[in-house]
Amino acid sequence: MKILVLNSGSSSIKFKLFDNDEAIASGLVEKIGEKISNIELKNLKTSEKIQRELAIKNHEEGIKLVNELFAQSGILSDLSELDGCGHRVVHGGSNLTKHCIVNDDVLKEIERISHMAPLHNPAHLVGIKTMMSAAKNVPNVTVFDTAFHQSMPDYAYMYALPYEYYEKHQIRKYGFHGTSHSYVSKQAAKMLGKDINDFNAISAHLGNGASVCAIENGKCVDTSMGLTPLEGLIMGTRCGDMDPAVLPFLSKELNLSTDELDVIMNKKSGVYGICGYNDFRDIHAQIEQNDDKARLALDMFCYRLAKYIGSYYAILPRVDALIFTAGIGENDSKVREKVCKRLEHLGFKIDTTKNANLRSGQISQENSNIDILIVPTEEELEIAKITANLINCR
Ligand code: ADP
Repeated sequence: MKILVLNSGSSSIKFKLFDNDEAIASGLVEKIGEKISNIELKNLKTSEKIQRELAIKNHEEGIKLVNELFAQSGILSDLSELDGCGHRVVHGGSNLTKHCIVNDDVLKEIERISHMAPLHNPAHLVGIKTMMSAAKNVPNVTVFDTAFHQSMPDYAYMYALPYEYYEKHQIRKYGFHGTSHSYVSKQAAKMLGKDINDFNAISAHLGNGASVCAIENGKCVDTSMGLTPLEGLIMGTRCGDMDPAVLPFLSKELNLSTDELDVIMNKKSGVYGICGYNDFRDIHAQIEQNDDKARLALDMFCYRLAKYIGSYYAILPRVDALIFTAGIGENDSKVREKVCKRLEHLGFKIDTTKNANLRSGQISQENSNIDILIVPTEEELEIAKITANLINCR
């Protein structure tokens, strides 16, 4: 089956083409709407690349060009040859609890809850609608970041606010990165020869956005992100948890609007807010130069992460594995070591040599109570698999 996976942003479209679960091409349309946009297609079998720089006015033009580049490269003669298209959708809210085939009701609901993910859902909608008109015969599937977290118990997902805000406005924890947490936990169970339905893990997805997930018998029971992807860990540019009273304080003291506070918390905070860098490679380079703010940012990031892992250790009846994934989780041995050392007394014993050398696999000592694993995430592959399954089951 040929499945195209799309992750549409407000000015970009990231895509990957799968043929029976094998990734055969990937690419990116960037800077849509700007004077000069980029489009790139990579044939993953031959490593050949096609790149173009031109003005791409909107997503429609972007998808048209993707189609042209596929044809030019000989990878796919027309989008209508696809068996399906899977779309990453960040927020499914409380009604879109399962991945599903797109119909009018699904589109309306994604639109209705757009205020809960204003940076993502409207852009996803544009991507879905564009594909629907570019290849009318091809079924579209929406895969929600929030779906994996729907198994959380009410006492984990409720906020202790007046109950009516939950009833009338669906204010609750939803959680994100669900496709990644689901994929890496299944992979980890496989690596350890365990049945996913009897597998407990703590999964740390550490990219620019970062979240931790507590998994019991293969299902999410708690996660660090909340109503939006702002809660929880300290991230590249997002603040994560803090006293909510900081907001009215800043608003009154500095006369900041809610929109301005939103930008500060999402784009100007996190490790970037502390030290001016959000890429962990830069943070380590700065620490080498004795930059004390970079040291502080790294210490804060690792401390918050260890606190979350410790709290999930406490609420799970047993922990089989700790999983590190995404850009920092897969590549940053210093972060992994620092976090695990703090948790050693709980039975997380990291093998520092394996940790420094491996990019995937087991990095715990033989006598560690808990297996510590690096599992590269493959969100697009998981979306392609879900899409193929749903189309086959129609
Ligand atoms: P996104 O959330 O944007 O998908 P990724 O999962 O790709 O993010 O992670 C990107 C982040 O991973 C970078 O900002 C950087 O902090 C970190 N990263 C990538 N490579 C390395 C590396 N070799 N060492 C340390 N950190 C890295």
